[in-house]
Amino acid sequence: SSKTPLTFIGLGPMGRAMVDRFLDAGHPVTVWNRTASRADGVAARGATRAATAAEAVAANRLVVLSLTDYAAMHAVLDGADLAGRVVVNLSSDTPDKTLKAAAWLAERGAELVVGGVMVPAELVGEPGAYVFYSGPREVFDRHRDTLAVIGRPDHLGEDHTLAQLFYQAQLDVFLTALAGILHGVALVGSAGVTAERFAPYLKDLVGSLGLYLDEVVRSVDSGEHAGDQANVTMMGATADHIAGATEAAGLDAALPGAVQSLYRRAVEAGHGRDGWTALINVIRAG
Ligand code: NDP
Repeated sequence: SSKTPLTFIGLGPMGRAMVDRFLDAGHPVTVWNRTASRADGVAARGATRAATAAEAVAANRLVVLSLTDYAAMHAVLDGADLAGRVVVNLSSDTPDKTLKAAAWLAERGAELVVGGVMVPAELVGEPGAYVFYSGPREVFDRHRDTLAVIGRPDHLGEDHTLAQLFYQAQLDVFLTALAGILHGVALVGSAGVTAERFAPYLKDLVGSLGLYLDEVVRSVDSGEHAGDQANVTMMGATADHIAGATEAAGLDAALPGAVQSLYRRAVEAGHGRDGWTALINVIRAG
């Protein structure tokens, strides 16, 4: 085959989906997984099984990882000869662990390209799928076409932490929004209303979030938080009402309490008449 051969370690739902795509595209793939039976499916489709992680790493210069976190990378690669390897780690973790991993690999003669896959397993390699990458540009460019098999590759910069930061920031918004949706569903549910009945209104709200995004971009990047529409005091009063309704319904108050606290502190810091985007100042103050 003229397609770049690669080693793939970590055959969870994501890893198996990605190996399938590499095989479909004609790449020779050597696989290893701690729980060997998870390699059965991809082996039946033509992947080569390695007996150990070290043997898998020895098979190819390009080594792709899809593991739970970076601790798992150390567990898997410890003892393997990594000299000359390009390790593309598609596992989620914090920026500091990512930086330590880059140094750990460099000491062993390997280069790290960090990846963050922005779609669930069933959408890997589908149109619209994309993956954040960061790390040495020249190393990334060498493998760009191969990596494009699992989704559009977006190289964010040489700083290894960037792909993790973009990934975590996306999931920060995603998890918070999902929890907010469930909280709202529980709030109307306290009056016996089904999620199905409330859903059309939620869909309308979720669809309108793009408008608020434009406002965020303008205000955050200019540092000017025009308060003529929705100011901090008004939005904070609403946050108080949500907290009150939550308490009256006997629901968990942690999420609305956190939002209420942001508005309170923004008012205390003198942002009451500024637009709601001035909350960024409280968030940044840590
Ligand atoms: P899983 O948790 O299902 O798979 C994790 C893999 O890591 C398994 O192959 C597991 O091996 C291996 N592993 C974990 N710890 C160790 C260890 N100490 N030593 C050796 N192997 C280890 O994860 P997913 O496939 O769902 O996800 C992989 C990565 O992709 C994660 O970082 C996740 O955050 C990210 N991601 C996941 C998405 C999703 O929708 N699932 C979407 C986008 C990104 P074993 O089989 O033996 O347990």
